[in-house]
Amino acid sequence: MRSALVTHPSSLEHVSPNEHPERPERVAAAIEGVEASDLETVYVEARAATREELLAVHEASFLDRLQHFCAGGGGSIDPDTYAVGRSWDAARFAAGAGLTAIEAIERGDADVGFAVVRPPGHHAETGRTMGFCLMNNVAVSAAALVGRGRRVAIVDWDVHHGNGTQEIFFDSPDVLYVSLHHSPFYPGTGRAEEVGRALGVGATVNVPIVGGSGGSTYRRAFSRIVVPVLDQFGPDWLLVSAGYDGHVSDPLGGMALVVDDYGAMAAALGEVMKHSNTVFYLEGGYDLGAIRDSVAATLDGFASGLPALDSQGGSDPSIDSAVAVLSLFWDLD
Ligand SMILES: [Zn+2]
Repeated sequence: MRSALVTHPSSLEHVSPNEHPERPERVAAAIEGVEASDLETVYVEARAATREELLAVHEASFLDRLQHFCAGGGGSIDPDTYAVGRSWDAARFAAGAGLTAIEAIERGDADVGFAVVRPPGHHAETGRTMGFCLMNNVAVSAAALVGRGRRVAIVDWDVHHGNGTQEIFFDSPDVLYVSLHHSPFYPGTGRAEEVGRALGVGATVNVPIVGGSGGSTYRRAFSRIVVPVLDQFGPDWLLVSAGYDGHVSDPLGGMALVVDDYGAMAAALGEVMKHSNTVFYLEGGYDLGAIRDSVAATLDGFASGLPALDSQGGSDPSIDSAVAVLSLFWDLD
């Protein structure tokens, strides 16, 4: 199998004036991870998302404000989020990297893609930056695919809830958004009861997980919720908001995942998607060694074909309470 490693030099030019955990070294760590996997690496330079592609997700006035802010040298946008002069380009290429990966897979150049870019995206909403994120990279890809009549599933295993991705597709029946996240925790959204709105009811699937949880809880969430929901939805494309801040070594996340857990989750996704039509997006993750090793495990797991999830008896309060809500919309055992 071949993986498209999609990145761009501008990802290194979005640099905080102060020490910030979301830093350029994360890109190098993730690139090392892609290269360390057993898949053949195909190197592809990201193209920028066009304004039209960005407008499918973001408000014109928001894009204009962000461009103007960066052109003026940038600064602190909120206590978490910053931009500098080069951040406008970094954000446009980060938003285009997933589109580039999809194009590489459609050409037959690769089976799976990894968008190794920054700033990350899943907290960015239609009209605001948030949580280290400027534009919503995964949402730009999903909107482009939906515009061509495709059904898209987004699985978000970043330790934080992807409030931006949820907000953007809350009304849409064509984009399934599935998030597993530390709760209660930043950004405060992502209760199981947040299930979508209007035609989109049921297509938002939130699995809040109590802090300190590890692989057994996440594997159970995959076998009881994520895999059956994906099978029932039947996506043409799977986009994964792959944050690695759930790793036990991460300084921010407060969870206890290890490298093998990312491999097991990716293996389950590889089975669902028959090892194709899938793009991973680097979201959070602030321990460089955890990023490198977990990215490699993600691609190896996705390609493995191994049924890596344990079939466990017993119960887990986080998963049981999510299943109780989600069973109204999905056939879950
Ligand atoms: Zn995160």
